[in-house]
Amino acid sequence: MTQQVAVGVDIGGTKIAFALVDETGRALADHQLPTRPQEGEAAVLERVVQGVHELMHSAPAPVVGVGVGCPGVVDPAAGVVRQAVNLGWAQVSLRAELERRLRAHIPVHIQNDVKAAALGEHTFGAARGQADFVYLALGTGLGGAVVAHGQVVTGAAGFATEVGHLSLDPEGRRCSCGRQGCVEMYVGGIGLLASLELYRDRYPSSALAQANEPTTASILSAAQASDPLALAILEEGGRALGWVLGMCVGILNPPLIVIGGGLGHAAWQWLMPPALRELRRRVLPQAADSTQIVPSAISVSAVGAASLVWHAPQRAC
Ligand SMILES: [Zn+2]
Repeated sequence: MTQQVAVGVDIGGTKIAFALVDETGRALADHQLPTRPQEGEAAVLERVVQGVHELMHSAPAPVVGVGVGCPGVVDPAAGVVRQAVNLGWAQVSLRAELERRLRAHIPVHIQNDVKAAALGEHTFGAARGQADFVYLALGTGLGGAVVAHGQVVTGAAGFATEVGHLSLDPEGRRCSCGRQGCVEMYVGGIGLLASLELYRDRYPSSALAQANEPTTASILSAAQASDPLALAILEEGGRALGWVLGMCVGILNPPLIVIGGGLGHAAWQWLMPPALRELRRRVLPQAADSTQIVPSAISVSAVGAASLVWHAPQRAC
């Protein structure tokens, strides 16, 4: 019997995902709305409120809080999104704005989206009962979080585990951050598509090389058909992921690394063999052997956000 529920909200660049989640991490209902960040911050906040209200009306038990995951640099203690480039936001008082607009005296908790997903794995998923672990999210780019003693490590300015922009080759591919060779230019959707453009001409027999507007999904379906270009792209992406795993294992030797994100799941079978080989080339075997690497167990992003409600310290609202 569900005693209380939370609403999770995952604000992405193109869509906002909502879920009504019980204390065991089960999504009782979910839905999505478009983000349309170009309409401005107030319009996006109104859509968040609309989506939350919709789920509150159908809740079978009292809603005890709203957890919101948001891309960019988020200060959960202050309740402020310091910067979210995808949304065009800077210094947005997300928590206070939502609590005011919801008008329901329900506490709102905010966190960076990847860190929220990591806490979701800790609360409900593959890292349940694990006080120390690393979470990596492979999607369009590559994000990460370190959880130590059950708490997310934030860093001095919120950039801890910003692994996607670790440069593995400072002379390498140019990244949107203005530097070169960032690891997400080799793995993640951006990286795989960058590899495709670079290597197209080397594989004249590849069907993928002839594709007009290829997507990450077309690379994966080509890999399924053993397309040589697709396999080469994923091999290189896997090695880049292995380099990141090596950094994590070499510095932290965590008992567990959880790999999530849409691409993390979809490309697991191709990325992981080269990633694990690369890991073993880069760290002591005893370190590699003592770190378990598993796929994430939570596929609904808003469930991770909802876990913020149960993970957050009690706060007067
Ligand atoms: Zn970069």
